[in-house]
Amino acid sequence: MELTEARDLRGGRSCWKPEDKPSLASEPPPKARVDVAIVGAGIMGAMLAERLSTGGRRVALLDRRPPAHGSTAASTALVMWGADVPLTHLAERIGIDEAARRWRRVRAAARSLSDRIDALGIACGRIDRPELYLAGTLLDERALEAEGDARRKAGLPSAFLAADAVAARFGIAPRAALLSAGSYEVDPVKLTEGLLIRARRHGAAIGFPYDVVAVEQQEKGLAVRTAEGTVLLADEVILATGYERAHWYLPAAFAVSSSYAIATPPGIAPLWRENAMIWEASNPYIYARATADGRIVAGGEDEDFDDAGRRDALIGAKAGILQAKVAAIIGTDTMPPDCAWAAAFGSSPDGLPAIGRAVNHDHLWLASGFGGNGVTFAALAIELIAAALDGKPDPDASCFDPYRFE
Ligand SMILES: Cc1cc2nc3c(=O)[nH]c(=O)nc-3n(C[C@H](O)[C@H](O)[C@H](O)COP(=O)(O)OP(=O)(O)OC[C@H]3O[C@@H](n4cnc5c(N)ncnc54)[C@H](O)[C@@H]3O)c2cc1C
Repeated sequence: MELTEARDLRGGRSCWKPEDKPSLASEPPPKARVDVAIVGAGIMGAMLAERLSTGGRRVALLDRRPPAHGSTAASTALVMWGADVPLTHLAERIGIDEAARRWRRVRAAARSLSDRIDALGIACGRIDRPELYLAGTLLDERALEAEGDARRKAGLPSAFLAADAVAARFGIAPRAALLSAGSYEVDPVKLTEGLLIRARRHGAAIGFPYDVVAVEQQEKGLAVRTAEGTVLLADEVILATGYERAHWYLPAAFAVSSSYAIATPPGIAPLWRENAMIWEASNPYIYARATADGRIVAGGEDEDFDDAGRRDALIGAKAGILQAKVAAIIGTDTMPPDCAWAAAFGSSPDGLPAIGRAVNHDHLWLASGFGGNGVTFAALAIELIAAALDGKPDPDASCFDPYRFE
């Protein structure tokens, strides 16, 4: 069995610049041993490569595709800290203190990422947006109010708004919502490329297409073997392979399904006030946001299956449904279509990622951002993995351990 699954990660046409030729040139893997080899050049691998290389480590990154050509190019990139599984639901399973601890840590990661993007001046269209979490089938109005109370007690900035207050302030159809601060949008492809350019400037080698087929323990470190016949030697290896799961190591609880998204042409937004990022407390949920150039990007309509042919056959129908549902949420009929796409989508039972050592390996790491907050989870992964590599394990590491459901 190969190291990771091989998937057709996305179909249709997304609104980022996905099919262009790569803006970074490839280079062969270094002959000299590196401190850290990263498999995967999506947002996860890019964040890891940037932070570890600027921290002084010798880094090599390999991908079977050009950088940012996997799931990252399909992302709708609402960078948020509210997870798919509500805080109150997670609290029922693990207690409010443990649930709140995880949520606070995810929020801190979202904030440290925005600080870093701004400090480094990465041109990825990062804009702070209010986040509106609308009452739905997962949390009705009363349950949403309780969710707001639980969040506030946990030190998380969310306020409950009644339906008429939502309509009055944001100019959308009336529906109760939690209003939260600390969310923002980015262009996920530009962010990934910006991070990789910085990583390269700090000595990281970025090679593609290299299909990593095995990671073998050798006497002094790990050997990363590619289908192209190269061997890269590394002290540590991080599998940032996204929804192409490293199936020997990633538990089956981290599952892959299908998701859909649409975008209008630029120049349509604003259709509602403050360009708030809107999503529903439903399962599956619909969400919508505006981009800096005035597109409305919306997504959802998830299906449980992961078959790419079946998934892509539904793009047209799903685009129509998304268009109609989003138009109803915002109370408009101005949703002209421009792009529609489908993609693999990874989830987990608690809506949180798998970050940590691979089972029975001291130097092989999993960085799998499963759950709707994949971009935030990449920021979290770098904090946890960098701390562990520095020999100062993060006290929250066990919260995101890949084997926490076993
Ligand atoms: C439709 C959709 C909407 C989303 N919306 C949001 C959102 O609003 N907010 C948010 O935070 N997140 C969102 N996400 C999730 C987020 O986009 C993902 O979590 C994130 O992009 C995954 O990044 P990654 O780097 O882990 O994976 P990828 O971008 O897929 O990168 C992994 C890379 O690993 C490479 N690879 C795999 N196996 C091998 C191998 N054996 N050898 C070499 N290379 C290999 C692949 O080629 C790929 O390029 C969304 C995802 C989808 C699909």
